[in-house]
Amino acid sequence: MFEHITTVELAGYGVGTLLLCATISAPKIDSIISASQRSSLGMCKRCGDLKMIACSGCKGLGLIKEGGAFNIIPVDNISWSKMRSIGCTKCKSKGRFSCPECSNLAQY
Ligand SMILES: [Zn+2]
Ligand SMILES: [Zn+2]
Repeated sequence: MFEHITTVELAGYGVGTLLLCATISAPKIDSIISASQRSSLGMCKRCGDLKMIACSGCKGLGLIKEGGAFNIIPVDNISWSKMRSIGCTKCKSKGRFSCPECSNLAQY
């Protein structure tokens, strides 16, 4: 009786582990082979034909904390009130740029 249950449970774990591995490894495989695969498919290597890339200055948020690096430990409430989110100047608050690789191929 116990052996039967154990076998079923083991089978369940096996399938679950396989599914888990497939789920975890999928994005890794994508990041490894995507560049060559995209180029072979005629897609843009830089953005995968999204025509845009995320801004590195604001991590795609379009906003950055003004003076955040200098006010990690606020000494009073005034320091907190000085901290405010400002629009990212790098991407003009858009959070993303037009892809430099293919943005000049608008007719494509
Ligand atoms: Zn592109
Ligand atoms: Zn930005």
